[in-house]
Amino acid sequence: MTRSDPDCLFCRILQGEIPATVLGRSDRSLVIADIAPQAPLHALVIPRRHAVDIGAFMAGSDAEAELADLIAQALALAKEKKIDRTGYRLAINTGSDGGQTVGHLHIHLLAGRPMGWPPG
Ligand code: AMP
Ligand code: ZN
Repeated sequence: MTRSDPDCLFCRILQGEIPATVLGRSDRSLVIADIAPQAPLHALVIPRRHAVDIGAFMAGSDAEAELADLIAQALALAKEKKIDRTGYRLAINTGSDGGQTVGHLHIHLLAGRPMGWPPG
């Protein structure tokens, strides 16, 4: 299983080669501010292990524990930013119809405004 891809934007952020605003971290993941925020709070929870999407990620041997860490990071940030009462959205875009543009799994945390359903 590939752990890092030198051509991957998020792997390069994880390696410190490209700057990002870090909002949280664990031994398994990094939380950064989205460069083009779609809501007052828009963070990306990124696993340190490179996987192109949620399907590839879940094929990893320790995937359930890694996924739990990603969710825990998102919930910790929601609590820290005090949006756990007003609400938020977690989203995993997958593939072209899912709107995925970066081929390294990430979870969006969006909050700070009402969000309609379904998303556009
Ligand atoms: P997705 O479209 O689900 O693949 O999400 C990719 C997200 O990465 C988008 O919301 C982009 O705005 C965001 N993004 C792209 N480049 C960067 C960057 N250098 N730093 C932080 N976020 C980025
Ligand atoms: Zn990557």
